[in-house]
Amino acid sequence: MEKPAIEGGTPVRETPIFYGHQYIDEADIQAVTEVLRSDYLTCGPKIGELEKKLCALTGAKYAVVCANGTAALHIAALSAGVGEGDEVITTPITFAASANCALYCGARPVFADIDPETYNIDPAKVEAAVTPRTKAVVAVDYTGQSVDLSPLMDICKKHGLTLIEDGAHVIGTTYKGQPNGSIADLTTFSFHPVKTVTGGEGGAVLTNDETLYQKLLLYRSHGITRDETLMEHEPDGPWYYEQIALGYNYRMTDIQAALLISQLDKLPMFRARRKEIVKRYDEAFGKMPELFVQREIPESDTTRHLYILRIVPEKLKIDRRRFFDALAAENVHCNVHYIPTYYFPYYEKMGYKRGLCPNAEKLYEEIVSLPLYYAMSGEDVESVIRAVEKIVNYYRV
Ligand SMILES: *Cc1c(COP(=O)(O)O)cnc(C)c1O
Repeated sequence: MEKPAIEGGTPVRETPIFYGHQYIDEADIQAVTEVLRSDYLTCGPKIGELEKKLCALTGAKYAVVCANGTAALHIAALSAGVGEGDEVITTPITFAASANCALYCGARPVFADIDPETYNIDPAKVEAAVTPRTKAVVAVDYTGQSVDLSPLMDICKKHGLTLIEDGAHVIGTTYKGQPNGSIADLTTFSFHPVKTVTGGEGGAVLTNDETLYQKLLLYRSHGITRDETLMEHEPDGPWYYEQIALGYNYRMTDIQAALLISQLDKLPMFRARRKEIVKRYDEAFGKMPELFVQREIPESDTTRHLYILRIVPEKLKIDRRRFFDALAAENVHCNVHYIPTYYFPYYEKMGYKRGLCPNAEKLYEEIVSLPLYYAMSGEDVESVIRAVEKIVNYYRV
């Protein structure tokens, strides 16, 4: 690690703090051990129970839980009919999986730039990127703030595209009063430990469309069905099933599902605490002209998964890299979300060039993700604020 950037000072925090951490209580542990003592470790009753709970939470008609958020995006794209030669429009400010799901299906990701203040994909840039080959849009609710769904749905309807909402950050957020998960054609969730609720690993796809739902079920489990109405041949007997498509083993275990059911009981509590921390950060950083606070759209009542601190480079003597190191020297260990997807060598080799999305590229140069998670104490939050203030005061132009 770098030397303390501010010479002679003692760090604001004695102990390190990191940008995210799961919260597991006794109820979670008990829920998991109950499954371990039961007959079913996978494909048991906890799967349906979790799916019902996700429907109740979001108002979506159908939920299909699966191995992780990436698998969720893959089966969502397959169900949307994304295939060889198609194009899928997405944002570069996201985890690689949002674009990789198009590649898994033989399609080409097309990157549309973000809004410079909300950091979510700009619907006008999406519309400009539509071609006759476009099949779907993967819109990410970056940081947990809902993308502006209404204009995106209009564009998708007009051009006959499927809207896949990558809601890995969005659980607990509502758009125009309606929970995210019940609005887009398909919404995916991730339950990785840094996300708002966790199953260790885990994912889900939500939809209101019965045809898409049936496809999701098939792709989740090898393309195999036990539903006689879908079979081509007469069943040979009660053991009989048919493979009618090429699917995967993307199933979730009952162990994960039980943990998630228990975690979802705490979502209102997680949501309230995250909102409180974000409010406190916004209050503190909104006063400082050296920092830019992410713009909230009034349509989104946001449960924030990430808190993005953005520096105004003209107003500071240091760049993001040194800002990041200075925070680490104060024992505040941040992260950066995200490196624009098309910067990765794998994408470069496919011909993607820098300069494609200027707003996204500028954002990437100016951000760090501050600690934001349920179990942060009030003193944790204040110490992060003190560390940021100390650095800004020291390096102000
Ligand atoms: C975490 C994440 C994913 C992938 O989810 P996994 O459960 O880790 O596979 C996809 N998209 C975004 C935006 C994410 O943050």
